[in-house]
Amino acid sequence: MTISLYDSMAREKRVFEPADESRVTMYVCGPTVYSYAHIGNARSAVAFDLLHRVLRRRYGAAHVVYARNITDIDDKIIKASAETGEPISAITTKFAAIYREDMGALGVLPPTLEPEATGYIAPMIALIERLIAKGAAYEAEGHVLFAVDAFDDYGKLSGADRDEMIAGARVEVAPYKKSPADFVLWKPSKDDEPGWDSPWGRGRPGWHTECSVMIEAELGRTIDIHGGGQDLRFPHHENEIAQSACAHDGAPLARYWVHNGFLRMGSDKMSKSLGNVVLAHDLLKEWPGEAIRWALLSAHYRQPLEWTEALLKQSKRQLDRFYRLLEEVEFSEETGAAPDSIVMTLEDDLNTPEAYAGLHELRDIASQLEGEARAAAIRRLRDAGRLMGFFNLAPAEWFKGDAGDGPSAEEIEQLLAERVAARKAKDFATSDRIRDDLAAKGVIIEDGPGGATWRRA
Ligand code: AMP
Ligand code: ZN
Repeated sequence: MTISLYDSMAREKRVFEPADESRVTMYVCGPTVYSYAHIGNARSAVAFDLLHRVLRRRYGAAHVVYARNITDIDDKIIKASAETGEPISAITTKFAAIYREDMGALGVLPPTLEPEATGYIAPMIALIERLIAKGAAYEAEGHVLFAVDAFDDYGKLSGADRDEMIAGARVEVAPYKKSPADFVLWKPSKDDEPGWDSPWGRGRPGWHTECSVMIEAELGRTIDIHGGGQDLRFPHHENEIAQSACAHDGAPLARYWVHNGFLRMGSDKMSKSLGNVVLAHDLLKEWPGEAIRWALLSAHYRQPLEWTEALLKQSKRQLDRFYRLLEEVEFSEETGAAPDSIVMTLEDDLNTPEAYAGLHELRDIASQLEGEARAAAIRRLRDAGRLMGFFNLAPAEWFKGDAGDGPSAEEIEQLLAERVAARKAKDFATSDRIRDDLAAKGVIIEDGPGGATWRRA
């Protein structure tokens, strides 16, 4: 069995062969911590978490180094600080912690490393000096710019024509740029802006520079896998590639490039600038993390994913059905080996739709068995789900939710059974009364093709 991944650079699926099986390296561009992550950002974190899990299973947890950075210096953070009056470090510490907690609730394992950009200012300055010495960067009016003409392969990842890219990218037009596509490695800071002393005056690094430097410092010159959302291919990843290759005598930055597709609301990409965002933090107040994770992995990671309330409901319902079966075996936190069929499907470029079909199949098989064979099949199903980050709760917990002052899960189940009986008897008055009574107690009933499910509001 081999892992294969769609490599955005090669534009084809390739067998994954790490440079060193005892130290498989992966870097994913992480959040800029000035606000809450939206569910589109979460899609990226969850997709690469799945890849992280697949790599760990195959090479062993101790042999996979996964770095996901925190961007804690950025104009958006400076702006947020100016607007709220809160110090920058308070904002970044707070939102980095919220990000970790929210992603954790979505079943995202902590990465091996979480480098924070401001911890790498000295090596960033060193990298920029190296680029200047090699003639790939130049200083102009307190800025240092990368000269894209110094790198022949510029544009190879995104594949766009260079002129097109220049037009398409909202590259800052500035009189001191030699070419309009040149991008900022270092920029001057005003007195009231955060800054560090450098050979070019007090200033701060550009975003692209951060990733190149953290990758070199933590993982090495050439890593196995570089990931991020598809929007990062240009200019961000293109710029990372150019800087790193020029600083490292042509050594490539990454051997495989993996990009997740967009999560969309309506027909648009979910993004803060469009304002069509749903925050992971808010969803987690209403929905179990596993249900949100299920929805996020329901489409193949490279395909667009349409985000709707119906998708979430359906995801919760699917998990209800699995947990119903899991209830039959004693809960255990221990996980055995996942079935080969599921492993192979996931190792094939993370084919989650097919892996879901595999889980349904395992459930159907288990439902038809009896006795110990049935229990064994249920445990196999649980192991399969756990490889993908599901079925981690005790079923009682899953169904209980946080009852608070409301009715217990058993009482609710009892009432739902009475409601089914009432409906069968065409006693709709009773059926509606049960639904309304439960609604008054904060329990929402949802009727679907597979029967009714409930959740707490
Ligand atoms: P940002 O904080 O905007 O830099 O995004 C963090 C990560 O989320 C990056 O890898 C982005 O590519 C990714 N991302 C942002 N918006 C979306 C979206 N709507 N769908 C999928 N991924 C996204
Ligand atoms: Zn990056």
